[in-house]
Amino acid sequence: MTRIAFIGLGNMGGGMAANLAKAGHAVIAFDLSEDALARAEARGARRAASAEAAVADAEAVITMLPAGKHVRDVYESDVIGKAPASAILIDCSTIDVATAREEIERAAASGYEMADAPVSGGIAAAEAGSLTFMVGGTDAAFERARPFLEAMGKAVIHAGGPGAGQAAKICNNMLLGASMVATCETFVMARKLGLDLQTFFDISSRASGQNWSMTSYCPVPGIGPETPADRDYEGGFAAALMLKDLRLAMEAAESVDAYTPMGAAAEELYARFADLGGSGKDFSAIIRMIDDSWPAPPRQD
Ligand code: NAD
Repeated sequence: MTRIAFIGLGNMGGGMAANLAKAGHAVIAFDLSEDALARAEARGARRAASAEAAVADAEAVITMLPAGKHVRDVYESDVIGKAPASAILIDCSTIDVATAREEIERAAASGYEMADAPVSGGIAAAEAGSLTFMVGGTDAAFERARPFLEAMGKAVIHAGGPGAGQAAKICNNMLLGASMVATCETFVMARKLGLDLQTFFDISSRASGQNWSMTSYCPVPGIGPETPADRDYEGGFAAALMLKDLRLAMEAAESVDAYTPMGAAAEELYARFADLGGSGKDFSAIIRMIDDSWPAPPRQD
């Protein structure tokens, strides 16, 4: 049993902390939201009065926060210098590569080992303990983080040095965003060309256009396995989070002068979809914007 401070018990962190408690760890939880804290307590965690109190005698600190600024605030105000220097620090939030590297460097300067370990898989995978973790950090940090991540996921992969987990995550999600848009526009064109969409799926899912957005997450209701498209695009991976990841990807691309025209197009399209009110829908719902039979108003720039 390890004493684990868990900070950020929202949609993802709630299920992750519950799985650590189920695995027999002592989870000391903190969140700014009283509701999130109460839910964590009901699922086996002990509540702390502050982030600083949560980490005070922790052997591991895990954070699952919205964005880079929250991660910076929490580590700089409440974790570094407050948790024992022997604690392993693991940030599972999706944040920009630069902040991830800076925080790991800062932690190292104070004697901590820290890993960035963003996840692939949504709320259902967080609940089921079947997330995929992509981990950045030294070999030693990875080996120390691994057993805790294994209690929350089905795959734990060492992506490389500090920040490599975030780099792998945004590269993957840039590809996912672009391939979803390409899959949506393809189905819309297939329909307009008079193809039966099930027949087109049967062909393309066995031909060279095959991709995950088509075969595992088809944006067309009634085709392929059950997906958010079959539930009016509810649940799944919100378009707002896809837009967040595409923005992080574009920021990272600019920082290394990488030419990413497809990623840029996907970012522009998801921004437009958000303007049209699509943020809360699953990201595959962008097919409604691409299909001009859907009555969406044009973007007002
Ligand atoms: P969420 O908004 O549901 O949860 C974040 C939690 O952090 C909230 O409960 C909030 O109160 C808490 N918080 C914010 N600032 C805090 C602070 N200073 N101290 C303590 N608690 C604080 O978000 P989520 O959906 O759980 O996502 C968390 C991270 O996981 C994000 O970086 C997101 O991009 C990433 N992610 C989400 C999904 C998904 O499907 N939801 C999938 C993969 C990755």
